Amino acid sequence: MKIEDQLAQRFVCPKCQSAGAAVKRFAATGTGLSRMFDIEHNVFIAASCLNCGYTEVYNPEILEGKDDVGAVLDLIFG
Ligand SMILES: [Zn+2]
Repeated sequence: MKIEDQLAQRFVCPKCQSAGAAVKRFAATGTGLSRMFDIEHNVFIAASCLNCGYTEVYNPEILEGKDDVGAVLDLIFG
């Protein structure tokens, strides 16, 4: 299963505790910040709470490097 789908399923909002998120993968190219840190090729995943809109950003390169992403999501969301 894709990281995006797993996040969307497992996401629990730290602000309002509701479950479920809209998940988007995006590239941080061309912004002042990415140039400053020389991370032009970095891709991130944003998970937005469906209830309140609170958004958390993850680095998929790190999540996808794990043998067991489900275990990592257990750590994040309990
Ligand atoms: Zn929320």
